[in-house]
This record gives sequence, structure tokens and C-alpha cells, in this order.
Amino acid sequence: MASASDSDQRLLTIVGAGTMGSGIALAGLLAGWEVRLQDVSKGVLQRAEEYLRTYLARKGELPALERATLTTKIGDLAGPGVWLEAVPEEMDLKMEVLRQMDGLAEGSALLATNTSTLPVTALASATGRPGRVVGMHFFNPPAILPLVEIVRTAASEEGAVERAVATAEDLGKTPVVVTDSPGFIVNRVARPFYGEGLRILGEGGAEVPAIDAIVESAGFPMGPFHLMDLIGLDVNLAAGRSVYEQMFHEPRFRPHPLQQRMVEAGLLGRKAGGGFYGYDEGGESMGRLELEAPEISGEGTLRVVPGRWDRGVSAHLREAGFELTEKGAESQAGFVLAGREGGLVEALAGLGNGRQAPLPIFCQLNDVTWSEAAQWVEEPDRLVGFDALFFSEAKGTCLVGADRIDPEMKRAVETLVEAAGRSPIWMEDRPGLILSRIVTALVNEACFAVEGGVADAETIDRAMRLGVSYPKGPLAWGREIGWPRVLAVLEHLHREYGESRYRPAAALRRRARRTGQSAPGD
Ligand code: NAD
Repeated sequence: MASASDSDQRLLTIVGAGTMGSGIALAGLLAGWEVRLQDVSKGVLQRAEEYLRTYLARKGELPALERATLTTKIGDLAGPGVWLEAVPEEMDLKMEVLRQMDGLAEGSALLATNTSTLPVTALASATGRPGRVVGMHFFNPPAILPLVEIVRTAASEEGAVERAVATAEDLGKTPVVVTDSPGFIVNRVARPFYGEGLRILGEGGAEVPAIDAIVESAGFPMGPFHLMDLIGLDVNLAAGRSVYEQMFHEPRFRPHPLQQRMVEAGLLGRKAGGGFYGYDEGGESMGRLELEAPEISGEGTLRVVPGRWDRGVSAHLREAGFELTEKGAESQAGFVLAGREGGLVEALAGLGNGRQAPLPIFCQLNDVTWSEAAQWVEEPDRLVGFDALFFSEAKGTCLVGADRIDPEMKRAVETLVEAAGRSPIWMEDRPGLILSRIVTALVNEACFAVEGGVADAETIDRAMRLGVSYPKGPLAWGREIGWPRVLAVLEHLHREYGESRYRPAAALRRRARRTGQSAPGD
């Protein structure tokens, strides 16, 4: 634990009074700290003071402003307490500022950096006391978002880490301790969220609004494109590029050229008036698609071939009012939930007899593509693929059909999906569809991060829920989806693309083997 004298020093000195510095200052003042805010720009300090005054007044805490000192002169600030730099994300500049802080910080002061992506170990080497240096990575807006990643270097003293944790808690935040590694937890584990979204778009799999709508329909507060527009495409690309470089060009982190082109075109997102979306005067994205769950109105009998991908699909259809049978010749449509290695081929052949001629055959497309499954049916025109992994979880359902699907068949499929309480979204035939591709890639990255000693599973989940408001932590989600299913989706992506980007983490394989032995197969 921090010593009493340390924790009595509720003195926070922040260098850099921009977006983050001023926001962290506000959090400090609201928590009762004495705050000293320094910036090289007078204009920035004036804006920071205005910001503090406005927000403190709004909270009825205006007298707290008396505990704030704003100055351009860093030399006047010698003293103890917690020192935090929040200057722009440039290695040389941050090293210079840390060196200055080192010269002014007294006693057992803590020296912290708010870097999002730079190696804290290298930054700490600029000081004469690397043991007292940690990362304190706040999220924007720092006065509101609860997460702070406390980045521990190999040199960080235990007392420094504890002091940082205690400081974050005292500021009303939730700290998570993470090993100094590229992107820490959130900026690393979230990479596939943007990366796979961009790839689906770049490959012509689906349009921006459709991808976002499906992702948002599963409980993510924003789809990848809405979120990139909010963060700024340039900032998001810089974070991605930094992780990619620091990971020595690991293919999982390779940025997408589409994003680079957008940045070059000045389409940086909301701040530039447009990015993946245009924005109206009220700041609402134009062209946004919102999926509602239609009222359920299932009736009739569906033939369901059970299997590994029935993650609540059968129960959902039954609850929607359908009767399910494993044989019935009278059924309206066939749902194949068997996996590729669990009887899928036979199941499709069995459903392909002409007696049910005009009826659709729904096939899960989590570990096969439509084009593969189409080889195994007599009439591919009747084959419609869907995301069985997220059917009972998301309000929207991805569908893939024949290139020239009969309009009547298409309408019949949509009617049936809507009757089951799901909004249909058609997309092109791409492996992993949208949600199962993005979510399993997140789960895989979280497994890589656990394996790499970044943090434990529970910490990673907490960081992703608090830092980017994911509806579930990726590892908890992996467990819930079922490790063997997550593995099968990734192996399929890996097979289809032949890229090591999709190779499953060894930690994921181990989890799949352990649970696979007791889980029902298909
Ligand atoms: P910003 O540009 O809004 O603010 C940086 C401030 O530092 C500017 O006001 C600038 O005048 C000042 N500055 C530059 N050189 C200085 C010096 N030598 N001494 C004192 N002040 C100096 O940037 P920001 O968005 O607040 O980001 C700051 C840091 O926080 C970066 O490392 C960034 O990666 C990190 N961060 C940003 C966000 C975000 O969403 N903005 C989120 C988390 C972390």
C-alpha cells in the first residue's frame, strides 16, 4: 500500500492542458484534489479554465476551482504528489516532458504518462527514476469514463503501481493493471473490431450502415464505422499503426488501406464533418440504419436438423410460435444447424429432395460459406445462409442467398425471419458473415493477450466492458458461445483466406479441447 504521507498528498500536477489534461484536471478537482495544470499555450489554458468553470458550476462545485492553478511556467511547479503528462503522442516530446517532470518532482512523487500507444518502458528511461514511472491511460472523456489502464513496466516499483491504482480509485475511476505491451489492453484487443469491419467493407461483403446495424443490434453501443467516425479516423489509424509497428508487423494488426485513403482524403469522421457517414447539423449520422426486432408471429412447422450451431436457435424459433420437427415432410422450411464436420453435407442432401420445392433451406454459415454449402444441395437457388451463432442474440440476422435469388423466395425468407422476430440483412457470401467474424476475432485477440501475459482474463474483460462499452467481455463471450465453436469459425476464416491473421491462439485451442471433450458435438 502507498504510505500515509504519500496518500495524504492529494496534489496532482498535469502537464498538457488539452482534451485529456483538462478532463483529468476536472476529475481531480471533483474528487477534492489540489490540481496544477500546465501548458505551453496560453490559449489552451484559457479554454481549460473555461471548461473547468463551466463543468464545476454545472455540478454545483464552483468553489473547487480555488484548488486549481493554471500556468505556462513548468519551472514554478516543483513539488511532491502525482505528476501526469498529457502532451501530444510524440515520443521525443513526451521524453523531454518526463525529463522536466523528473527534475521538478520531489520526494517519492509518482511520474505518470497518459500515452495511448507509446511504450512506457522507453518513456521511463528518459527519467533518472524509472521505478517511479507508470502509465495512467485515461479514456476520453476522462471526467466521465471510468477506466484507467495502469501500465506497469519491468522497472516499475510495486509502490508506484499501488500509488497509481490508489490515485485512480481516489479519482472515482476503475483501474486495471496491465503489463507494458503494445496497445495495452483496450487499444490492442479492440483492433479486430475495426480491422474486420474494414475488411468486410473492403471485400464488398456489406455496406457501412448494414455492418454497423448488425453489430449494434447485438448490444455494441456503436458499430465499427460509427465508432471510427467518433474517435477520428486519423487517431484510430495512428493507434492501429503503432500497435502494428510495435508488434513487428504481426498480420493480425495490419491496418487497412481503405482507412489510409479516407485519412488522405480528409474524411476523418465527425470532427471533419464526415467520415464513413455524413452528419447533419444536429450531429446525427446520415444513412444510419437501425434494426428493430419485429413482432414475432411464427406459425407452421419448420424442419430443423440439429447440430453444433444451434446456439438457442431452436428454442428461439419455438418461442416465436413455430413447431419444430426433425423429419416432417409438411414443414415450411428447413434449418440446418449441423456443422461442417458434424453431418452438414448429409443434412443438406437430405433436405434437397424436390418435394419441398419452393421452400427455403436455411443453413448456418458459421463454419462454411454459402458457395461451399451450395455444392451440397440439389437446388442452390433454395439455399439461404444465416448467422446461427447470433440468431437468438442479435435483433438483426445476416442472410446470404444465390446471386440471382428469385424475388418470391427472397420475400418468403424475409417473412419467415421477421416472423421469428429478427430483421433480415442480406450480404454477400463472405466467411464468418459479420458478427461471428468480428466477435470471434475479438475473442481470439483476448486469448492472445492472456497468453502474452498482458493481463488475466477477468481484467481484460473488465477493461473492454468499461473502456469501449462492449456488451460482454470477449473471454466471457467466448465461454458463452462455446470455445469449440469460436475455434471452428476462426479455422474456417483461416482456411478461406489462408492468412495467419486468422490463426487461432494456442490458448483458444486449449480451451476448446478442454470444453470440447464434454460439450455435445454435432
Ligand atoms: P491535445 O492536443 O488535446 O492536448 C495536448 C496539449 O499539450 C496541448 O494543449 C499542447 O499545447 C500541450 N503541449 C504540447 N507540448 C507541451 C509541452 N512541452 N509542455 C506542456 N504542454 C505541451 O491532446 P490530447 O487528446 O489531450 O492527448 C494527450 C495525450 O493523451 C496523448 O498522449 C494521447 O495519446 C493521450 N490520449 C488521448 C485520448 C483522446 O481521445 N484524446 C484518449 C486517451 C489518451
